[in-house]
Amino acid sequence: MHRLAKTTVMAEAIIQVAVPTPLRRHFDYLPPLAIPGSFPIRSGMRVRVPFGRTAAIGIVIGIARKSDLPITKLKRVLDVLDEEPLLDQSMLDLLRWASGYFQHPVGEVVVGTLPRLLRMGRGLHAFACDPEYSITVAGERALHESSLSAAPVQERLLRLIRDHAGERAGGNRVREQALKEAFVEAGIPNWRRPLQALIDKGTVVRERDEGIERTDAAAGKKCDLRKTPVPHAEIPRLAQPQAKPCDLTPSPLRMNADQIDAADAISAQIGLFAPFLLEGVTGSGKTEVYLRAIEEVVAAGRQALVLIPEIGLTPQLIARFGERLSCQVQTLHSGLSDGERLAAWTSARDGQAQVVVGTRSAVFVPLARPGLIVVDEEHDLSYKQQEGFRYSARDLAVMRARNVGVPVVLASATPSLEAIENVRRGRYRHLVLSHRAGHARMPRIDVVDLRSRPFAQGLSDPLIEAIEDARSRREQVLLFVNRRGYAPRYLCHGCGWIADCSRCDAQLVLHHADRRLRCHHCFFEQPLLLACPECGCEDLRSLGIGTERVAQALEARIEGLRVARMDRDSTRRRGALESLLAQVHSGEVDALVGTQMLAKGHHFPNVTVVAILDADGGLFGVDFRSTERMAQLLIQVAGRAGRGDRPGRVILQTHHPQHPLLRGLILEGYRTFCDGALDERRRAHLPPYANLALVRAEAMQRRFPEVFLKEAAAGGRARAPTGISILGPAPAPMERRAGRWRTQLLIEASSRSALQRFLGPWIETLEALPSARRVRWSVDVDPQEMV
Ligand code: ADP
Ligand code: ZN
Ligand code: ZN
Repeated sequence: MHRLAKTTVMAEAIIQVAVPTPLRRHFDYLPPLAIPGSFPIRSGMRVRVPFGRTAAIGIVIGIARKSDLPITKLKRVLDVLDEEPLLDQSMLDLLRWASGYFQHPVGEVVVGTLPRLLRMGRGLHAFACDPEYSITVAGERALHESSLSAAPVQERLLRLIRDHAGERAGGNRVREQALKEAFVEAGIPNWRRPLQALIDKGTVVRERDEGIERTDAAAGKKCDLRKTPVPHAEIPRLAQPQAKPCDLTPSPLRMNADQIDAADAISAQIGLFAPFLLEGVTGSGKTEVYLRAIEEVVAAGRQALVLIPEIGLTPQLIARFGERLSCQVQTLHSGLSDGERLAAWTSARDGQAQVVVGTRSAVFVPLARPGLIVVDEEHDLSYKQQEGFRYSARDLAVMRARNVGVPVVLASATPSLEAIENVRRGRYRHLVLSHRAGHARMPRIDVVDLRSRPFAQGLSDPLIEAIEDARSRREQVLLFVNRRGYAPRYLCHGCGWIADCSRCDAQLVLHHADRRLRCHHCFFEQPLLLACPECGCEDLRSLGIGTERVAQALEARIEGLRVARMDRDSTRRRGALESLLAQVHSGEVDALVGTQMLAKGHHFPNVTVVAILDADGGLFGVDFRSTERMAQLLIQVAGRAGRGDRPGRVILQTHHPQHPLLRGLILEGYRTFCDGALDERRRAHLPPYANLALVRAEAMQRRFPEVFLKEAAAGGRARAPTGISILGPAPAPMERRAGRWRTQLLIEASSRSALQRFLGPWIETLEALPSARRVRWSVDVDPQEMV
């Protein structure tokens, strides 16, 4: 008797569910009462659960025998949405680890990283770009009042939509395919026009996966995003049978000895966890090396995941993947519609996509048979998400490779100091390509000392000469300027008044073509003032240079020079970047003026001169990483010169030619610079020799963030063990942004594990502080920007 009773209790498993909510824990439920056709619940499946006053879709992350709550308090799972787990155990482990490490609520991590359609409850294989229709309240009324009797076909269509939409469990939409069949069956083959008429009347809505049909406000017309030019490899290909071997296009290139060594070293580790830093100077053929490793992995029946910084900026790279790997290459990036994203995600999960190329969030895409992970340009800041779930995709890639036992290749010409330190400690194997591939040579660097030299609008005479020279040889020039717009400062010559943002600690940037003053930190903008608001003086002047000013000055200075601009303003429109890149490639542009977008891995073989108009920006930054970033940017921009057969030249303009950082970088190169920078970091007890977390708080009122962080700091200091220091609170470097006052608290720890042990329990106490409710606050573990 006794034993029997016990088993009955045990049989009621506890379902642990990650629900997307800011609460930092999972929730326990009881299994659903038998639902016909439902499946046994396993970890990784989606379930619908009662949550607060509504229901939510969550993911099962574990099945336990007991709960901290009494069984009678637990509610039942309402519904099981999947027949099989969406995520396997290794993905769940990775996500839970990430939630703990980056201190972000588990539900937002586990559910929040799914494609939107899955979060909304869409079936895994319910594809994709098929629009759906539903009937509106107006439509119901029209049927009820028979107001469509003058249009009998429309009325029949409306009825069909209502009936079919009602049929599907859990939703009131009907897919176009199903509707089509119903129309044909009902003898209405010409249904498109009447359907459109219904939509126009507001009786039916067409709900495409958001993002496919959208109004382009600037152009004022409907734009179907799928019709804008995209590199061919981006178009999702149809599923191929999984067993089909991948035919690989043999590489047209013969790799050099360094490349062969590197590729062999990676291939030798297939099937094992092995982290590599592939460090090769710009143009050394790193891509070729990892493509070779990918081929091997794919030939062995496994999948490769390649993370790249921004797909939009490097359509060339995507095209190269498509050309070189004639197996199924699936791309994943923010430009995809929800349906496309789901299709891509599913093909990776099911193992159809043999190679998955994506931006940051692709690190969370499940793979049926993972074989290799590559992180290209691993130093790039875009791998760190800067809001919400502040994860590092690069670090997660390494963790993921370790969990599943595959090699991971971090590639860069300018590795992060963290990666270099990991090589020093013997954690990463170092693969080095020290020469440019093929016939290309490294460019020569010429420093132009700007001190007491005439230079108008950022253009010195030696630079103008170099541009004219290049043009006479029909070669191209890139000019790097670290700010978009016309000028970063607009002031009154009469009284010294400066135009600044009323909501931020920042000056307004003059945008000449639009005749506006804009803040680059919030959305504030205003028309160009023609007289000083303080003294009425009309002598207003702009100071400093932006891309717009330089482009304009160049055109004025060198007659007939064809100048183009590459920055966020000039590439905002969809397709604009692609057409700009195409113009540069076809030689329609002589000089390209741009921001750091220029530094992103472009390969323009005809560019022989690269100019850095003002190298001084990063020398005196507020952030301890600013010199590292400046060095990376300079080397990357410079690396665009001389990538073809002709030698390249870099012109670096500075007011501080003797600055040790700049001199070291130029004379001795990036590695020597890093050795120096690492010594400094060690002395200053900064990453990678210390581990940081930043707690940020902001509010409309200045004192709230300070009060909250003071209480947080006091509580933290009371419980912090030795090895943990709490610094602050202090105002953020930009104390006011978008109208909010910002304060931060820095946690410094001698080891990662000490930091982790401290953070979790301490942050739970912060949630309970009443002062927390008056601010927006967040935790950033391993912050990349201290702003
Ligand atoms: P990285 O990624 O290191 O900057 P890429 O892989 O983009 O360099 O290669 C730069 C250029 O050199 C590309 O045009 C590539 O096709 C070419 N290349 C790569 N390897 C070789 C090789 N072994 N011989 C000749 N050209 C090569
Ligand atoms: Zn004035
Ligand atoms: Zn602002």
